[in-house]
Amino acid sequence: MSLPHPVTGARFASPVPPGSGWPDDPGAATTPVAHAPAEVVGLADTGDLAELDARVSVCRACPRLVAWREDVATAKRASFAGEPYWGRPIAGWGDPDPWLVVLGLAPAAHGGNRTGRVFTGDRSGDWLFAALHRAGLAASPTSVHSGDGQRLTGVRIVAAVRCAPPANKPTPAERDTCAPWLAAELALLPSVRVLLCLGGFAWDVALHQLARTGRPVPRPRPRFGHGVVAPVGDLWLLGSYHPSQQNTFTGRLTPAMLDEVFATARERGGRDVR
Ligand code: SF4
Repeated sequence: MSLPHPVTGARFASPVPPGSGWPDDPGAATTPVAHAPAEVVGLADTGDLAELDARVSVCRACPRLVAWREDVATAKRASFAGEPYWGRPIAGWGDPDPWLVVLGLAPAAHGGNRTGRVFTGDRSGDWLFAALHRAGLAASPTSVHSGDGQRLTGVRIVAAVRCAPPANKPTPAERDTCAPWLAAELALLPSVRVLLCLGGFAWDVALHQLARTGRPVPRPRPRFGHGVVAPVGDLWLLGSYHPSQQNTFTGRLTPAMLDEVFATARERGGRDVR
């Protein structure tokens, strides 16, 4: 059954077929699909960011996650029953030549997995985009859906694991299967100076990837903490508590703390501190 996109009104099946007109869909009907970990490795080696995004957006290499994301897209949450769900992997999104990369854990089942854009359509994203806007990095303080006019300047947001996992917990095997997409993406972003990791999972994945790609990761490896900054060659790794409801509801992470993190990012990235 096709349902109308909340912004454009165009009708889509759930999951959304690649290249069917969804706003910002990087994929096409002809985009090659990875069905196994070895195929992720091969297809990640494209050398072109737009093509990488396209290949990510149709990946089917993790059977458990493919089943979960598509089941959620079909069943839907009652409050979104009238909407189509993206139901595919979430590619990186934002400025194609960023100085700052924000690295999250994985898309939310009814957030990115519904809207087709990273950190869009859930409470964590509300916090993150509001902070990006206050820091002068996002055009709007809200990010509700693909096609809503939101735009990032100097920043790209990516997830360490590109498909929504059950209970927000990818397995180590799923993390490792998805890793070549992230490694390839970072290699295609030469202007990045700051890698902001939201939570310990993203921090560990970032360190692992940077070490694998030959970056001079300090020994012993720096431990994650809110506000921790670690140099990795010409890059700064910066830690922040994840803006999950668990952290924001309890006051473990406040808007002022996030503002402080983005001020640090601007400073380390050689940008004017606002
Ligand atoms: Fe592919 Fe990553 Fe999704 Fe696994 S988690 S299916 S590797 S995009």
